Amino acid sequence: MTIDTLRLTAEEAMVLLERREASGAELHRAYREAIAERDGELHAYLALGGEPEGDGVPIALKDVISTRGVETTAGSKILEGYVPVFDATVATRVKEAGLPLLGKTNMDEFAMGSSTENSAFGPTRNPWDPERVPGGSSGGSAAAVAAGLAPWALGSDTGGSIKQPAALCGVVGLRPTYGTVSRYGIIAFASSLDQIGPFARTVRDCALLYRIIAGRDPCDSTTVELPEPVRLPEAEDLRGVRVGVPRELNEAEGIEPGVTDQVQGAIERCRQLGAEVGECELPRSVEYGLACYYLIAPAEASSNLARYDGVRYGFRTEGRTLGELQRRTRDAGFGDEPKRRIMLGTYALSAGYYDAFYGQAQRVRTVIAREHAAAFERFDVLVSPTSPTVAFRLGERTENPLAMYLSDLLTIPSCMAGLPGLSIPCGLSEGLPVGLQLVGPQFSENALFRVGHALERALGFDPVPPRLAAL
Ligand code: GLN
Repeated sequence: MTIDTLRLTAEEAMVLLERREASGAELHRAYREAIAERDGELHAYLALGGEPEGDGVPIALKDVISTRGVETTAGSKILEGYVPVFDATVATRVKEAGLPLLGKTNMDEFAMGSSTENSAFGPTRNPWDPERVPGGSSGGSAAAVAAGLAPWALGSDTGGSIKQPAALCGVVGLRPTYGTVSRYGIIAFASSLDQIGPFARTVRDCALLYRIIAGRDPCDSTTVELPEPVRLPEAEDLRGVRVGVPRELNEAEGIEPGVTDQVQGAIERCRQLGAEVGECELPRSVEYGLACYYLIAPAEASSNLARYDGVRYGFRTEGRTLGELQRRTRDAGFGDEPKRRIMLGTYALSAGYYDAFYGQAQRVRTVIAREHAAAFERFDVLVSPTSPTVAFRLGERTENPLAMYLSDLLTIPSCMAGLPGLSIPCGLSEGLPVGLQLVGPQFSENALFRVGHALERALGFDPVPPRLAAL
């Protein structure tokens, strides 16, 4: 049979396997053929997996996830040639579920960025328009799913790196509650924020993959068992659901009118489906979220990236002394963005400044968490655009780091508060996908899946990029 990888959902693929209408090997081959055909243009993958292990629905993993025997670079030259001797827990879990590895996907170096242009190995392109970015930092995973080069994929999200590329590529992405998915074996960026999560073409697929990866892991002491099992969403209405519309997240400066239109349409649809919709406020979260993030994330990154010394992993530049070897290796191995953040973070943590910067940012973070908690006394889920803009052009923001940082204005506040967020496509603006962000209290993934699924059905967004559908 012919397998249409552009349209097949993971759930449909499972049915094919169950009925023995296709074998795992055939599925795997179909995606590998699609990769051979289309990834030359898109560059969603950095490396391909070997012979398929397992006969389930194949998967792509962001290159921040350690995979035994398969090169893992986190998009950085400093890890070039590094082949882990162990699997990250999430890699083990997908393996144990029988999902063979299609390959490792491209990303901004050490997950620092919003466009995948910071990859040391060249950018990924957006399947909707190859002149545009797929978002980032998990741009490779998002593009792979959007282009039918993987039925589903895993990414990582520190301040928006799953939700934002999902939005820009017209797919579904979940950033789970902090602590529900193991970080063991993930190349660390900012440990108090990093979370692994799924990309898929439907909310139900996203829930299926989350079910596989979530839960306590003895190797990561920040993980917990889920308070309730992951449920596959079925409801087609939103009766009894209270939807909050935070004013600052929906009226922030820089949100494109076309994005607002689509999001307003989705909010109207919530009403039609029976939800109770009301306004709320998150004034300090939006005002201080970004600034707070750009202290905490670089501070943690400067510490996490200290381990790349030319001795233990991958790339090395020789030197006459150990110090010279380390300096040269770090100078040649890190790209501009990690260097920028190491400097920012080291400064913020330095003696005499620690409390003024890092300590203060941590206190603001508590304020942001409380502000969200107050909103959840009245609402079950908060909605807003995921990204203020649709996919932007390659090169448009690379010269201006601050413009790039603004890409995450709307995703960062809930990340700071450790909350889960789901992005689903809700329409098109200028022919490009617009993402709707749904944020809930801690451990509310089931509620997010329920709302996301009902909306997805009602909105009927077609996730196939027209230029690929025409092929
Ligand atoms: N774009 C944000 C940053 O550059 C978020 C990245 C992420 O979530 N990994 O830090």
